Amino acid sequence: MGKIVRALSADGSALCCAVDTTDIVNELHRVHGTSATASAAAGRLSTAAVIMGAMMKNEGDRLTLRINGGGSIGTVTAVSDYRGNVKCCLDNPYADLPLNSIGKLDVGGIVGTDGYLAVIKDLGLKEPYIGQIPIVNGEIALDITQYYAVSEQIPTVCALGVLVDTDLTIKRSGGYMIQLVPPVNESAIDFIEENIKDMQSVTSMLEQGLTPEEIALKGLKGLDGEILDSWEAVYYCDCSRERTERVLAALGKKELLKLAQEDPVTEVCCHFCDKKYTFTSDELSELAKNI
Ligand SMILES: [Zn+2]
Repeated sequence: MGKIVRALSADGSALCCAVDTTDIVNELHRVHGTSATASAAAGRLSTAAVIMGAMMKNEGDRLTLRINGGGSIGTVTAVSDYRGNVKCCLDNPYADLPLNSIGKLDVGGIVGTDGYLAVIKDLGLKEPYIGQIPIVNGEIALDITQYYAVSEQIPTVCALGVLVDTDLTIKRSGGYMIQLVPPVNESAIDFIEENIKDMQSVTSMLEQGLTPEEIALKGLKGLDGEILDSWEAVYYCDCSRERTERVLAALGKKELLKLAQEDPVTEVCCHFCDKKYTFTSDELSELAKNI
């Protein structure tokens, strides 16, 4: 289970959301068989999606983060709901590089910087909201911070971390985001800047046994932060046979009949959870009939 905690400063001017996504990113790794660097890239993006999903307001709201910087990992997509449950898919789970110059997994290297980070919010309106910014460094956290500064004009601090064990399982994963709530309180900015300087990396704090509650309150130190709420989130895919049928139907009548003729059984695999759905040629012909 992933853990999400939200804390608010006493005057309501700053919100901090901290999450432990160790179990979630372990599941991501299990489903996709990711390399260490790909786990870090997809894990950081998924952790950001957990946090940003948890900051949405209404049941049914959905958030998609998509990044492609021309690197070897290709496109990475993370989709979360308003409770922070998340699923992720990536073009190349085996993308890997040697450690970078500071001895860290080279996330920016496999993501690349020639491309965009897209944020898609489906708030149940006619059209989803789409914000897009050029990638800053492909390390994800700074890209998310930049998105908020440019697209939403919300001063935001974002830290994300994934620590991979020698057997490629995920030792620790988590993140936090601190956002200023308008009207901006200038003194809150000073406190938060000091707090960030004092805080170690997310994975170090989790390694030391700090809970998401403690991390959230550390982010708001000096501002009398109080825990607003906390809950659990999981790696969760909402695919189903019905949804898969809709995707197949979208291929069009001609394409479906072609598939039906080519193979006695067509297998469709969900990119997010690897679940397989099989359709016989009779079933495909039946689907084609109803388009
Ligand atoms: Zn699925």
